[in-house]
Amino acid sequence: MASDDEINILVLVLDVNPVWWGQQAQREPKVICLKNMIEIQDYPIQMNPFFQFTLSTCLDALMVLANAHLVMSRTNKLAVIANLYQESHFLYPSKQWKSGDEISGSTDGKYELLSATNDLFAEEIRKLMDKAEVSGNQTDSLLAVSLSRALCYIHRVSKDMQAEQDMKSRILVIKAAEDSTLQYMNFMNMIFAAQKKNILIDACVLDTDSGLLQQACDITGGLYLRIPQRIALAQYLLWVFLPDADQRSQLLLPPPVHVDYRAACFCHRNLIEIGYVCSVCLSIFCNFSPICTTCETAFKMPLPQVAKTKKKKLKTAN
Ligand SMILES: [Zn+2]
Ligand SMILES: [Zn+2]
Repeated sequence: MASDDEINILVLVLDVNPVWWGQQAQREPKVICLKNMIEIQDYPIQMNPFFQFTLSTCLDALMVLANAHLVMSRTNKLAVIANLYQESHFLYPSKQWKSGDEISGSTDGKYELLSATNDLFAEEIRKLMDKAEVSGNQTDSLLAVSLSRALCYIHRVSKDMQAEQDMKSRILVIKAAEDSTLQYMNFMNMIFAAQKKNILIDACVLDTDSGLLQQACDITGGLYLRIPQRIALAQYLLWVFLPDADQRSQLLLPPPVHVDYRAACFCHRNLIEIGYVCSVCLSIFCNFSPICTTCETAFKMPLPQVAKTKKKKLKTAN
């Protein structure tokens, strides 16, 4: 059992890439004739042709997780970060929240903290989306920025803590859009910083698999799950991602995935399996170059020397 003083921090990072979410909303529901409508009621819910997975559906599921985490213990702490392309925004705790006048008491008898957080999320996301300038080529997300802010938040909370208090912390990334290989170095540094601080990184992937997040989860001991059915997002969040690391050892969770450990070369940011590594700074390159572009070390080429000695030997033989 967790002690009363233990602080459990959960930082949610939500990928709100407008291009990806826009594509989801544009998916037309299948047109069906009215005659079939009655049969549809008997369908399992995931086959419902009217179901659309939108940002607000996802937000609802996320709020279920956030609320569940907050009611588990009064010492539990929550932070929510929205990742928009290359920027990251704190949705909660936000400046509004600190001012205190937002907590006006709920009308339906709900715990005030929960209704206030729910309203704040929705409002902040709406503001973000209004401000966002959508351009078609930004189909990938740079998550490293949000992850580093998450680490900073956890670090700040740990500084405010009393010495006798225990702290557990984890970051859950809800990833929608594709990985950007541009962030490879920053992302790896982030992962090792998290590992050093004993912070778990969990990933809940909505679309294509992410090699970077697979590595992050594997290295920090977190869980990586690409959810098979988006409609069941709330269930996956509650059953898989709500329990903390200690409770997880007692659960039957989805089996670990095969981790894609390819690295991105520093010259073209391509993912490669075999490459050249600088012996001084450990930079990775897909082609051999006599001078390392990162640390400017010049490598001695062994080949001409071999040719010379061969020539000499030939001469002496003659
Ligand atoms: Zn390259
Ligand atoms: Zn080098």
